[in-house]
Amino acid sequence: MAAQLIDGKAIAQLVRDEVKQGVAEWVSKGNLAPGLATVLVGNDPGSAVYVGNKQKASAEVGIVGLDHRLPQDAPHEEVEALIRQLAGAQRVSGILLQLPTPRQVDGQALTALIPPGKDVDGLTPMSAGLLAQGRPGLRPCTPSGVMEMLLRHEVPLQGAEAVVIGRSDLVGRPLAALLLAANATVTVCHSRTRDLGAVCRRADVLVAAVGRPRMVPGEWVKPGATVIDVGINRTDSGLVGDVDFESAAERAGLITPVPGGVGPMTIAMLLKNTLLAAKASAASRQQAGAAWN
Ligand code: NAP
Repeated sequence: MAAQLIDGKAIAQLVRDEVKQGVAEWVSKGNLAPGLATVLVGNDPGSAVYVGNKQKASAEVGIVGLDHRLPQDAPHEEVEALIRQLAGAQRVSGILLQLPTPRQVDGQALTALIPPGKDVDGLTPMSAGLLAQGRPGLRPCTPSGVMEMLLRHEVPLQGAEAVVIGRSDLVGRPLAALLLAANATVTVCHSRTRDLGAVCRRADVLVAAVGRPRMVPGEWVKPGATVIDVGINRTDSGLVGDVDFESAAERAGLITPVPGGVGPMTIAMLLKNTLLAAKASAASRQQAGAAWN
């Protein structure tokens, strides 16, 4: 293997340690500890595990967890009232509505009620708009985790050719906006892209966020490129990414593994966002802009 590994677990731990220290300093100055409110409607076991992991990670860094659980048959109006209450509560720095919600609850409409300053998932239309316009705001956790990895490895982005495969609201689209903000020349590919291989071979930074096991072969990788694999696919041979790791690692300069690459970054960036949100809400609007940048 020619490529150097990007160790997402280690970088995520560094971020968590920094957030822990940042929370301690914030509290030592007489501020309230940041509070992360999670809202889980219903009893989906997978969602319960996600929420539990977020609450556990919060507690480890000194963020106060405000864990709200509503029954499977909770009416939309009840969840809406809770979100509105959390939106106005000073104790709450960030709000996470776990999706998907049961059928009677319109999760998308409720997500839009989360104020941009508390949108620690960075996925509301307002946050997406701020990002699209290059204005300060909270950024989605997985894409900002990718940026953090590139930053820590000092991957040059200015003027670099960046290719993102995938255009979801969760990963591809916001990541393209973040790379653009870092002055990369960004190409976004999707299921209708012609000759994907030829586009990928141009990339100094190649990101795959598709959800198709090993779809990016090594021959699509420009020699020396940085390859970031966001994909998480469960197969008979275990968890694999969207990149054929073995062949890609022969040509790449830097590459993320799956598991242990982008995966661990998401929760770490959620914690970072929660601390940023707490600081920004306590500061003046001008100071808030500075904190986000
Ligand atoms: P998604 O919403 O399903 O989007 C997939 C994207 O891939 C779409 O834009 C789609 O194009 C594109 N695509 C599908 N087939 C393609 C093909 N043959 N060639 C080129 N593009 C193709 O998925 P997502 O939510 O972005 O997630 C992508 C992957 O990342 C999944 O494996 C997911 O599990 C993983 N993920 C990981 C993390 C993490 O590590 N923490 C977080 C989120 C997601 P169209 O738009 O044309 O349909």
